Amino acid sequence: MGKVKREKWSNEFSEWYNELLETAGIIDKRYPVKGMNVWLPYGLRIMRNIEAFIRAEMERTGHDEVLFPALIPETEFQKEAEHIKGFEGEVYWVTHAGLDPLDVRLILRPTSETAMYSMFSLWIRSHADLPFKVYQIVNVYRYETKHTRPLIRVREISRFFEAHTAHIDFKDAERQIREDLEIFDRLAKFLALPYIISKRPDWDKFPGAFYSLGAEIMMPDGRTLQIGTMHNYRQNFAKAYNIQYETETGEHEYVHQTTFGMSERLLAAVIAVHGDDNGMVLPPTIAPIQVVIVPIPKKDANVDVFAYAREIAKDLRKAGFRVHVDERDIRPGRKYYDWELKGVPLRIEVGPRDVEGRKAVLARRDTLEKKTVGRDSIVEEVKKTLDEIHENLYNRAREFLESHIKRVDTIEEAKAVFEDRKGIVEIPWCGSEECGLKMEEELDAKMLGTPYPEEKAKAPEGKKCPVCGREAKFIARFARTY
Ligand SMILES: [Zn+2]
Repeated sequence: MGKVKREKWSNEFSEWYNELLETAGIIDKRYPVKGMNVWLPYGLRIMRNIEAFIRAEMERTGHDEVLFPALIPETEFQKEAEHIKGFEGEVYWVTHAGLDPLDVRLILRPTSETAMYSMFSLWIRSHADLPFKVYQIVNVYRYETKHTRPLIRVREISRFFEAHTAHIDFKDAERQIREDLEIFDRLAKFLALPYIISKRPDWDKFPGAFYSLGAEIMMPDGRTLQIGTMHNYRQNFAKAYNIQYETETGEHEYVHQTTFGMSERLLAAVIAVHGDDNGMVLPPTIAPIQVVIVPIPKKDANVDVFAYAREIAKDLRKAGFRVHVDERDIRPGRKYYDWELKGVPLRIEVGPRDVEGRKAVLARRDTLEKKTVGRDSIVEEVKKTLDEIHENLYNRAREFLESHIKRVDTIEEAKAVFEDRKGIVEIPWCGSEECGLKMEEELDAKMLGTPYPEEKAKAPEGKKCPVCGREAKFIARFARTY
């Protein structure tokens, strides 16, 4: 492990991240609209692998894929009051068609509630239509006024995942939220990302929601990144969009609704959480190339390292691995550098001596350790090593997250945490908005919310709210966020 360096990664994270997105071939930021970026082939391949997992989970849990238009009439957008208030400052308007001003202006969707729900009211008729579960992966647009950052805070979210469901009652909607949490947990394990779930405070829930849950990961600089949200809307949108069903006894009831959202922030999290000073480290599950084989020819050697490398590649492909043989005419050191930057989990080096001795050298990207294995055990060793890499990435990230969560009793202690190693602080809280906002101000941090599930949110007996001195009901989490 001695060779892994994470100095630039932790001390100059922003620079490290921005540079890496370009040098590793993820996106190009030079597109001439601020906050909108071009996906490069390698970045898109990784994102597609993440999406494939999400789609499979949606299928497994009985969601159908739909595809709605990107434009929403102003009249539909205005139906839910809280929702407009939350989004009106950040929507892009379409006001003209050619030279003619439009009678009804259109917005570019910032999210799809207001696009979908007038259609839901036509589709959902009876209790037999419920639960109703759909999803789509599309681009959405938000006029961000804060500092934009590729994959994290952008004006065009290119890969916005949104699941929308409708249910017979609150209880079934709650069951859906539990299913979303289970899907999210499986996805996070697939990406080797440890995370925490918080119930957002009322002043920070999704516009129009009854309550919102957010999933956060810990970034290298001690700030948190939200990578998933689940919302229970109760009947708020159903009433605004008149989504009713006929009960078994012939009455008409409004449905209960939920949503579940994610985006390319998942890729940002993978890049940030697992990286080091040499570049990305991709979990084998989503790496477009899981194993790169680098032949090292030597002058005067009378064996064919290229043929040997191709044979190994053939065996590995047959066993189901994504393999690339790098036959470029450049020095091996340069090849190592390139593939380390791109985060390929495992490299196999083969020189003339390996051909003669029927062996190969495996170099792990996560630990930068090397070991020699026999030709006949390569497939088995690769499988074992990739599994170990995935587990190691998860464990390393979990230790990092856990070491950045600190429970304190006073504002002073909380301040010290933010000055020192940063991360998340957990403070006793009486539950009042006034005290919550006061703490946000004093700490110059955001309240992520209270730990979820709710059993974990209760303050231990005898703890006091550090702002008002009353008995604390909850534990509240604060962090500096992206
Ligand atoms: Zn208080």
